[in-house]
Amino acid sequence: MRYREADRILHAITPDHGRVSAIARGVRKPRSRLAGRLEPLSVVRIELVVGRGDLHTVVGADTVAVHHRILTSAAALDHAQRACHAVDRMSVPGEPAPRVHGLLRTLLARLDAEPATPHEGVQLAFRLKLLYALGLQPALDGCVHCGRTDRLVAFDEAAGGLACGACRGAAPLVDPATPGFMRDALGSPLAEAPEPAPGTARQVHRAVVGLARQHLGVDLRGDRSG
Ligand SMILES: [Zn+2]
Repeated sequence: MRYREADRILHAITPDHGRVSAIARGVRKPRSRLAGRLEPLSVVRIELVVGRGDLHTVVGADTVAVHHRILTSAAALDHAQRACHAVDRMSVPGEPAPRVHGLLRTLLARLDAEPATPHEGVQLAFRLKLLYALGLQPALDGCVHCGRTDRLVAFDEAAGGLACGACRGAAPLVDPATPGFMRDALGSPLAEAPEPAPGTARQVHRAVVGLARQHLGVDLRGDRSG
């Protein structure tokens, strides 16, 4: 985000230090040596002076990868911004996050290479993998309460997984296709994420938002997909 007349405050996700917030002073002046090196959605190597609080100062930056195509496609940009929003909410300053970092890089590369509009399954697969990378592994192979593997009819956010008809209590029902979609989305590479029917997409969004709220204390509803 822009700050004062020439500065920028940026949020980055790093492999070794988790989420980092930093100020790049003077970066919007044309002759700044940082100009053009801290573009949104780019992968950079940054040099920071550690601040007293959570805000550090950028003193050097080198571009590793830029994603020009994302910035020219409204649909790809929307996907990328929603993914970054989820990462920003769900990652913690100071805590190493190599899997989250790797996952976001994979998504950005995928969106940059995608010739057609990416479907919603890519976003949902990303979010399920993100929960997984953060240590949250929803029970998808059997009922989270009794373990039976057939007639999984609901998703119990509080218990953290699919539930059978006998155990579901007040947990919301899901379509018969939803458990299989969640397993496939988690089990395949992002580039091969399955495309969900609209009803399944809504149910998986709800499950992801519920898991993040119940188990990470994070509210993901700030973006319209929540
Ligand atoms: Zn059960």
